[in-house]
Amino acid sequence: MHSCARTIPFACFLFLGTHVAQGADEEARRDFHSYANPEHVRVRHIDLYLDVLFDKQVIQGEVVLAIERTSADAKQPLVLDTRGQNIESVEESQDGQEYKKTPFDLGKVDPVLGQSLTVRLPEKVRSVRIKYKTGPRAAALQWLTPAQTADKKYPFLFTQSQAIDARSWIPLQDSPRVRVTYTARVRTPKDLLALMSASNDPAQKRTGDYRFEMKQAIPSYLIALAVGDLEFRKIGPRTGVYAEPKVADRAAKEFTELEEMVRAAEKLYGPYRWDRYDVLVMPPSFPFGGMENPRLTFASPTVLAGDKSLVSLLAHELSHSWSGNLVSNATWSDFWLNEGFTVYLERRIMEAVYGKARADAEAMLGRRSLEREMADLPKSDQVLHIDLKGRTPVDGLTDVPYEKGALFLRHLEAVYGRERLDAFLKGYFNHFAFKSITTAEFAEYLNDHLLKGDAEKAARAKVEEWLYKPGLPSDAPNPTAAALERVQASAHEFAAGKVKATDLPVKDWTPQQWLHFLISLPADLTKDRMRELDDAFALTKSGNSEVLFQWLLLSVQHGFEPAYPRLEGFLTEQGRRKFLKPLYEEMVKTPAGKERALAIYRKARVTYHPLSVDTVDAIVGWK
Ligand SMILES: [Zn+2]
Repeated sequence: MHSCARTIPFACFLFLGTHVAQGADEEARRDFHSYANPEHVRVRHIDLYLDVLFDKQVIQGEVVLAIERTSADAKQPLVLDTRGQNIESVEESQDGQEYKKTPFDLGKVDPVLGQSLTVRLPEKVRSVRIKYKTGPRAAALQWLTPAQTADKKYPFLFTQSQAIDARSWIPLQDSPRVRVTYTARVRTPKDLLALMSASNDPAQKRTGDYRFEMKQAIPSYLIALAVGDLEFRKIGPRTGVYAEPKVADRAAKEFTELEEMVRAAEKLYGPYRWDRYDVLVMPPSFPFGGMENPRLTFASPTVLAGDKSLVSLLAHELSHSWSGNLVSNATWSDFWLNEGFTVYLERRIMEAVYGKARADAEAMLGRRSLEREMADLPKSDQVLHIDLKGRTPVDGLTDVPYEKGALFLRHLEAVYGRERLDAFLKGYFNHFAFKSITTAEFAEYLNDHLLKGDAEKAARAKVEEWLYKPGLPSDAPNPTAAALERVQASAHEFAAGKVKATDLPVKDWTPQQWLHFLISLPADLTKDRMRELDDAFALTKSGNSEVLFQWLLLSVQHGFEPAYPRLEGFLTEQGRRKFLKPLYEEMVKTPAGKERALAIYRKARVTYHPLSVDTVDAIVGWK
């Protein structure tokens, strides 16, 4: 069955009222990536007791789930998600004091979803306690040896639960529809510090026994833990940065505007509701640029460019404190509600703190990147409300939810004006605060609070086309930035042989301009011209990860061998999926390149996160 919005033009929301939309909604709220049954029995709160055992690379855990029946059908069991864990016992309690053992069933193993864990319970049970151990390939956990850290003295553990990997380290209802509050007691080796996506005390001494509380209800994919040799640096009254000792000062210097960013976001979208906002700079193997774990963003050290040129990543993760963490996608098909809103908010914060020229340049780079990626995507994957039935949420990780989603909001801004859209967004975050919603619920709210009453503007908004059709509407915003258009012209002149590299007007070029210059070079550039660029600007030695990545990609495309040692260095020093994937994909296009890719990967594989390993395994055909 299709939901209303997919089969009938958007007008159905305008004229058929809420009845149809709600009927369709149950289907839209189905989460194909979880076995859980929150419509009958729902987990409301979690108490965790975790022993982090570095020598065995195992978390020995105990979890107490406070549950609530949400339907009248008292025969319905509690159904949880689990993957690869060793479940030792399940106990039930009516009063949260006395527990008794109860039988449980583990379902068939699915390589993506894991297993269901079903517990049949008497009607009155309010708590379930599970003792368990994480398995040897728990996808959310990366155990780093001292050699894989910046300081090389202590081991490090971090989790990455998004999208459906919380179930690999905690048995729970692993669906973003289910929000929980949590507490945790975490035991670690004495000389290491533990941090969570919860209350973190900047003055915390190292004791090896840490307690946390998260009072706001969050989806399971936002539960996070990091354990390592970490130090704190204060930035503002409620902001700071954690990092390994070697990196801490550099990180604090890079992120000096963090407090200002929080203030700018509050001015636009209402109060920051999570108490502190800290950033944890991760070891280099972290597979993403950043992860918006509430109160404690995890950030890749590849954003430490030394000149604040990559701090838009912090604006992005901070924005998730409204879009994503406060109002969350109900299923992974609604992922654009998290990311499209966040990219839009990120650019507004960048504009407020660093000026319009920079925000415009980033928006233009974003649209170009989306166009390049969409050219290779099947039509069905160019849709904001993507169909992920029978697929993994990772399949939806393209520029589409991010950049197309942001363009949609930019389009609404163009139709309704900035003031009205800002008021709408503020109201939206308030209305759905601490809720998880579907695309259809968003569309209904949009209709009621922005579209209704002005048919001419509503027609121009083209909501149905934006949400449910592939590609971009013909009148989609096309952000331009004069600074980038200038370097594009320079790239064409250089490629046509009209200018020498040394005569290019690079004096005040920002990293965004360099990036656009490199992207704008044609595919048939000769190796001599590549050498000319490298001799003039030492691009192979660039300390900006984005510029270096683009240069290395060009080098592989053009067979520019002097850059290959740096290519190998870059692929073994960091494990960010965004950089690994295109570089390996480009290398395997030729037999010699494939051999080089395999030689590098043989060394690098052990240093990568399981998510990056899965990606690169598939590209190089690892057996
Ligand atoms: Zn994001």
